[in-house]
Amino acid sequence: MNRRHWIFRIYGLLVATALPGGAAAASSFPLSKSKQEWKRLLAADAYRVLFEEGTEPAGSSALNAEKRPGTFVCAACNQPLFDAAHKYESGTGWPSFWQPLSGALGTTTDYKLIYPRTEYHCSRCGGHQGHVFNDGPQPTGKRYCNNGVALAFVVKGAPLPALRT
Ligand SMILES: [Zn+2]
Repeated sequence: MNRRHWIFRIYGLLVATALPGGAAAASSFPLSKSKQEWKRLLAADAYRVLFEEGTEPAGSSALNAEKRPGTFVCAACNQPLFDAAHKYESGTGWPSFWQPLSGALGTTTDYKLIYPRTEYHCSRCGGHQGHVFNDGPQPTGKRYCNNGVALAFVVKGAPLPALRT
């Protein structure tokens, strides 16, 4: 076995160790559904991001331009994830926030782009939302870079949707 093989083997091990605690382990979340069930319940693009850890094209979401007060909820289970007061214009083409609602998200480390990134997902259903980076504005310095298709916006004053069961 040559050196190149070993590098791929080591990378493979890193990926394998990153997965068990990841969003793929659906059974560890309060709301647990099979991928087949989610596929049936969600639009194809939302399913691909939320449960296949896909990424929508930059600039594709209407929520980029959403500036009204309100709440962003998980597009899979309706759990509130972000307050619109914590959204800001990052210029990336993805809805960006500097702070999530308390307890709304869980995180894992992923190695999809070789270097480690912090993936985050809805703490209730495990649906993948985006990645968090350390180049956001104060007071947190965090940038929660979210897929718009994984969110739904509820304008202030409108009733929040019932949590999906
Ligand atoms: Zn959810």
